[in-house]
Amino acid sequence: MMTDTDVAARAAAAFSDRFEGAPDGLWAAPGRVNLIGEHTDYNDGFVLPFALPERVVAAAARTDAGWSACSEFTDETVRFDDVSPGAVTGWGAYVAGVVWALREAGFDVPPARLAIASDVPVGAGLSSSHALECAVLTALIDLGELDLPLEDRPRLVQRSENGYVGAPTGIMDQSASLRCRAGHALFLDCRTLEVEHIPFDVAAEGLAVLVLNSNAPHSHSDGEYGARRRSCEDAARILGVPALRDVPVDGLSDALKRLDDEVMRRRVRHVVTENQRVLDTVGLLRSGRIREIGPLLTASHASMRDDFEITVPRVDIAVEAALMAGAYGARMTGGGFGGCVLALIDADRADATTAAVTAAYDRHGFAAPTPLVAVPSPGASRLA
Ligand code: ADP
Ligand code: MG
Repeated sequence: MMTDTDVAARAAAAFSDRFEGAPDGLWAAPGRVNLIGEHTDYNDGFVLPFALPERVVAAAARTDAGWSACSEFTDETVRFDDVSPGAVTGWGAYVAGVVWALREAGFDVPPARLAIASDVPVGAGLSSSHALECAVLTALIDLGELDLPLEDRPRLVQRSENGYVGAPTGIMDQSASLRCRAGHALFLDCRTLEVEHIPFDVAAEGLAVLVLNSNAPHSHSDGEYGARRRSCEDAARILGVPALRDVPVDGLSDALKRLDDEVMRRRVRHVVTENQRVLDTVGLLRSGRIREIGPLLTASHASMRDDFEITVPRVDIAVEAALMAGAYGARMTGGGFGGCVLALIDADRADATTAAVTAAYDRHGFAAPTPLVAVPSPGASRLA
């Protein structure tokens, strides 16, 4: 695993290479992993992500006019003056989208050059795209001395992703990348956007969160995401509540009786019980009982597998193998149909757990998963 300094040094070197001169500064924003609370965000519910040490670093400087961006991922340098939606496509849309959203919000965005380096795995469900947007946003805010309070920044990034990039994502990923603190998970109420920093210093307890990228191709995820969202919205309408967040867990059986559709009933059961699992996890963590959250993680997985039906064999196999190898709990994390699995384990069991999942994958003819030990890390900031 590369450290922050390596990524920062690479971003600075990329800047000098492509743009000449030195950057005015370096800004970083992390990827994230969601500890628990899946598909609860767009139901106005609760989530509990934490930021990763893996981050996107933007080396940036003010310039005279327009915006240019380069990334070590590609030789192409993106340049644009026009930020109307559709004008910039490809990875540059994540940069242009942030400029657009800032301007839509009435800010005078400074013309800038940005060079991007990153060690956030791309397309693994660890939100490299939001890390990129949040690094760009943080850089532009500082370069232009824009007055945008931290608590208002996630909405702006969401606007960029929804309105410019065209991805119908919720509010969790940007909130995590911007607002997390080291050694804590971020308890976020997706309705009020209130946050509470919940102590989650796994290392101090001799524990670790192992994240395994299943490397499963998740080609169907967009359509399925839309279908799940619609199903939840339809159910809320039938139940006469603004969102499924408003169905308490002790009102669940009554609510289910009012729904005719068997599939919809299962979707609702997932969301309602998942919200409660987030609250229960927060309760345990507040009293320092980290190990005891394990069964909640595993129950979350079962709910995603059986009720919300968003898992795939590769993530189910990984969860099962991690549990067999002694994990306290394990679940798929992220939107589903692939992506990563996380397991709460004793800190010295990372290699053994990875080996167990690799062996199970091998038996099924799947390529080995990619491991990462997820240390709860701080949100976006200026590095230099
Ligand atoms: P993820 O789960 O990683 O967010 P997405 O498909 O939402 O997956 O976003 C991945 C996209 O984000 C990439 O295809 C690319 O366009 C952009 N991206 C992420 N990191 C970088 C980077 N370091 N440089 C350029 N583009 C990046
Ligand atoms: Mg993304």
